[in-house]
Amino acid sequence: MRVIDPHMHMVSRVTDDYRLLAASGIRTLTEPAFWAGFDRGSPEAFRSYFDQLTLYEPKRARQFGIAHYTWICLNPKEAEDLALADEVLSFVDEYLDRPTVLGVGEIGLNKNSKNELAVLERHVDVAARRDDLILVHTPHLEDKLKGTRLILDVLSADSRIDPSRVLVDHAEEHTLGLILDRGFWSGITLYPVSKASPARAVDMLETYGMERVCLNSAADWGDSDPIATLRAAQEMRARGHDEDAIEQVLWHNPNAFLGQCPKFEPAC
Ligand SMILES: [Zn+2]
Repeated sequence: MRVIDPHMHMVSRVTDDYRLLAASGIRTLTEPAFWAGFDRGSPEAFRSYFDQLTLYEPKRARQFGIAHYTWICLNPKEAEDLALADEVLSFVDEYLDRPTVLGVGEIGLNKNSKNELAVLERHVDVAARRDDLILVHTPHLEDKLKGTRLILDVLSADSRIDPSRVLVDHAEEHTLGLILDRGFWSGITLYPVSKASPARAVDMLETYGMERVCLNSAADWGDSDPIATLRAAQEMRARGHDEDAIEQVLWHNPNAFLGQCPKFEPAC
């Protein structure tokens, strides 16, 4: 079985995870830039991280037969310092041009603050100017509905943005329909403790259909599971979905979205 996981944070995973992914058929993944668990204090710290994502991690992945792509941005959690954000945004093009970078992400909102919105708009402008794909993080729990609406409004307000080139991630039961109705791609994140379980994810697929929906593990330094996508596949199988439907969600859908960037070439 072939699987693309469009959202993993491999810099915080060990080599055994790469072995497990390769053995499980997950041989292509994409890694959005994200928060390190603490705020990076300087533009140089961002440069080091972007180098790690674009130079070192693809090489590490290749040793295990995995194709590793990435996304570049400042995370919404790092958007409160506008001067630092502007400085980082002044050099992101240099990284976005690198051969394994698919676009701008994961941008979005965390606490839905004014500064986060300002930095989100600047990122959207960068992507629009370059005609890059966008990967969006939506906030957690009680802020999710409001934050998702705010993000969709920012994206829709920019006439240069084509919704079919944007994936809005961490969708849940109360936001998935909203995202799809406005023409965007959506992602459902499978987490062992928060976000969606395999059963909830498959309920959502059965309710909203399998068009423009991708599943991901968002495996990072927290409690997460790098083969969560396979657990959702198992749940689909147990409910009687055929292998074509499973392959559509775990392979064809992410391949169609990510393949809009000419740099993307999945490993089979
Ligand atoms: Zn993430």
